[in-house]
Amino acid sequence: MKSTAHAFEKQAKAALEDSDLQRAMARAKGGFIDKRRDAIHALPEFEQLRAAAREIKEHTLAHLDYYLERFEQQVLANGGQVHWARTPSEAREIVIGLCKRAGAKRITKGKSMVGEEVAINDALERAGFEVIETDLGEYVIQLAKEPPSHIIAPAVHKTRDQVTELFHTHHARYGLHERVTEVPAIVNEARQVLREGFLSADVGITGANFLIAQTGSIAIVTNEGNGDLTSTLPRVHIATASIEKVVPTLEDVTIILRLLARSATGQEMSSYTSFFTGPRRDKDLDGPEEFHVVLLDNGRSQMLGNEYHEMLRCIRCGACLNHCPVYGAIGGHAYGWVYPGPMGSVLTPLMVGLREARHLPNACTLNGRCQEVCPMSIPLPDMLRALRIDQFEQQLTPPRARMGLAAWAFLVRRPRLYQWVTAAAMRALAALGRKRGRFRRLPLAGGWTRARDLPAPQGQTFQTQWRQARKGRA
Ligand code: SF4
Repeated sequence: MKSTAHAFEKQAKAALEDSDLQRAMARAKGGFIDKRRDAIHALPEFEQLRAAAREIKEHTLAHLDYYLERFEQQVLANGGQVHWARTPSEAREIVIGLCKRAGAKRITKGKSMVGEEVAINDALERAGFEVIETDLGEYVIQLAKEPPSHIIAPAVHKTRDQVTELFHTHHARYGLHERVTEVPAIVNEARQVLREGFLSADVGITGANFLIAQTGSIAIVTNEGNGDLTSTLPRVHIATASIEKVVPTLEDVTIILRLLARSATGQEMSSYTSFFTGPRRDKDLDGPEEFHVVLLDNGRSQMLGNEYHEMLRCIRCGACLNHCPVYGAIGGHAYGWVYPGPMGSVLTPLMVGLREARHLPNACTLNGRCQEVCPMSIPLPDMLRALRIDQFEQQLTPPRARMGLAAWAFLVRRPRLYQWVTAAAMRALAALGRKRGRFRRLPLAGGWTRARDLPAPQGQTFQTQWRQARKGRA
């Protein structure tokens, strides 16, 4: 997958023609949307919680250095260690160094978008470690050698039949030869295979949904409990997280948690919400001997205080993806990088550069649904529009689009001429399309007519009709 403009067009086209993907996306979409709607309706104080969560995050971002330092002090006081990584390559080096120092061979891994961002699996495997994904969705895509296509449901693009075939192909080496087709049987088989991994891993790597400055704890939210087994069974636990995940207190986390699961999966709470505070203490019966937190910046500190800083409030719930018509049509892989959908269309250009990802701010209808459902009230459409402006100013917009916009700007600054030209165009199109009632092809509108017909206009512009309606009422 590549995040170049040319690759996006090809990947989006391929996604639209992929019938398995279309089936999987259609099945997933309704579930997420309906469940979220019901969960939000059942929570009358949703808007108050949303406002409180926004305030907590804005306050934390305004004092990010203070809360990060406090988090580090608390982790150290608990017997753990914090490692600072400015770039993905620094994060990879730190994690590989820790695994080597632990004399690790086998590593279990929980779901972590920061892990994806720094491509940790590839790096670990190249360094000679065996990596086992423990989240079911991540495990499925690890077998398929694919990246995640959704931030909370990494294998949402896979049909059940595809999972059956993957398990059948890869589990024969464990003596499992039967084709499992029903969901409980699929889950059981994965559990059977993963159990051995959990028990024999030397290092467990997880993400972290929140970092709590007050206590030096990390919070991990899962529905499978794999995060708990990954962090408590191996000798060494490494949590990878980005710097904006910090929140001041445990009480703050409880407020945001009430929004997270409802927005993500429509649950009141995820099945497992676990807090980890340092390594095993003297009297503890279990837990890791070492506890490390790798904190990644990767351009986030540059976003503080600029017009995109509100993106740092994101809690990775995935609601904006689930409600986006573009994501729903093409899935996550077409976006070409780790974060898909509306939040990815803002984050990716900021992280990999606008030139490299210039297609993404334009892969949006600006319908505003993402902002409406975002529990952290992130103004995604405004930011996508701001990225388009940046793109125009940096001369990254294609010449044809620039010429079109220049012509448009010339006309709208001259309202009388604008009205005359549009009225003439409407009359001409109405006359030309009268016979069929629609156009199969139209110059300068090839992008529209390639996939569908353009209905012929009625012959009058909106403004003409509005004026007539006003006259009729007078
Ligand atoms: S931008 Fe909002 S809706 Fe989208 S993942 Fe982040 S918090 Fe959730």
